[in-house]
Amino acid sequence: MRNTVKRISCLLILPIVFSVCFSCAANISAQAEVENFIEADESDFIKWVDLNVGAKLLKKISALDIKYHGTEVDFDFCEALAYLATKNGNKFSDKADFAALDKLVGELESGKKISDFYGENKYYKYYCEAYSAVFSEMIGEYKDGESGETQYGVKAFFPIADGFWYNHYDDFGASRSYGFKRRHLGHDVMGSVGTPVIAMEGGTVAELGWNQYGGWRIGIRSHDTKRYYYYAHLRKDRPYAADLKAGDTVVAGQVIGYLGMTGYSAKENVNLKSGKPHLHAGLQLIFDESQVKGSKEIWVDLYGICGFLSGYRAKVSKNPDTKEYVSLNTKISV
Ligand SMILES: [Zn+2]
Repeated sequence: MRNTVKRISCLLILPIVFSVCFSCAANISAQAEVENFIEADESDFIKWVDLNVGAKLLKKISALDIKYHGTEVDFDFCEALAYLATKNGNKFSDKADFAALDKLVGELESGKKISDFYGENKYYKYYCEAYSAVFSEMIGEYKDGESGETQYGVKAFFPIADGFWYNHYDDFGASRSYGFKRRHLGHDVMGSVGTPVIAMEGGTVAELGWNQYGGWRIGIRSHDTKRYYYYAHLRKDRPYAADLKAGDTVVAGQVIGYLGMTGYSAKENVNLKSGKPHLHAGLQLIFDESQVKGSKEIWVDLYGICGFLSGYRAKVSKNPDTKEYVSLNTKISV
């Protein structure tokens, strides 16, 4: 879903809005970003994305995408999200969006194309590109790791293995004080130490080791390089799946490590001094390599996505000798 929409940066306003408050900052910066985006040369790229769509709507849109896959009806997950975001100014609310979605589906069933509505609209194009970067690999064709059959559907996983308890709420943007004052750029899923952590999407292990904030952590870059998944605070002493190392390829649903509570220490293999065991899951979007590290990083809220993916949990089995878990459900992109 590449398109030619290019925009100018809102980086100049970021220092100002960050000093206000996160929720205000998110709205102001998103508004400014979308307002500012323009047709530009090929070297430009998206600099900012706000993600606030909820789990219920994501479930509904994915069910529609699967329902209409292979039919005459022109329904696509990312385009439908972009359509709604264009309509609601990227402020999702279930009531209005469910009604708008029903109306859209009616129109598409009667033969209209989704591009008939906002085809050349610059906001629509921006949202198409932004939401494709987030979701394009979460739904589509995949090879089932067990049966080897090619199927169509949701191919991403919730980051906690099936059968293990968890608890979460939307804590993206909350302030954190270790080291220096900053925002929480991820999503915390509370659980028990030793719970198998699952790769939400396949990719390449870009980083694996100690980080003074995240403790034992794993960073996985998606195959299309647009997403970087960050799994942090893994278990003390045995944080990772056996033999996993930087450079390895992992598939969606694979056990990559174990939940713990390490981090916030310059010294390795140390547990958090306060707090409870949890997985910190982060999703960073990368439209250009200049956004990989530093002030230009774009992190999005995983709360809605995790709620959506709570229905897609990998089953695991434990090897009694090694105490290692292996996944019984993997999905390989095709
Ligand atoms: Zn966290």
